[in-house]
Amino acid sequence: MHKFSEEALESGIYCKKCKNLLPEDAFKVNKKTGKLIKPCKTCRNKYFIKYRKKNWAKFREKHRLAMQRYRKAHPEKAKEQNRKDRERYKERRLAHMIEELKTVKDEIVPF
Ligand SMILES: [Zn+2]
Repeated sequence: MHKFSEEALESGIYCKKCKNLLPEDAFKVNKKTGKLIKPCKTCRNKYFIKYRKKNWAKFREKHRLAMQRYRKAHPEKAKEQNRKDRERYKERRLAHMIEELKTVKDEIVPF
């Protein structure tokens, strides 16, 4: 039925979705069963991106609720995360400002 030789099938794993023979690391491994999850990572990603785009509002809401639940359940960790977020934000702002200063510096005529 398939158009691949035994040899090809042995060296690669067939993904029905993209119809490719792929190496083992192109597939995710089910941690519970140790079996490879099909279709391949690329196909799965494509599917998830499409699915997320279609249901982005649902995903956002789900994520928001999960975050809320997590923060309620782990107030200490939430506080720590807030602190980290603030720091990261400050760092990003600083990096951005430095970048801006660099461009400004080129424009300013030295005196
Ligand atoms: Zn595939």
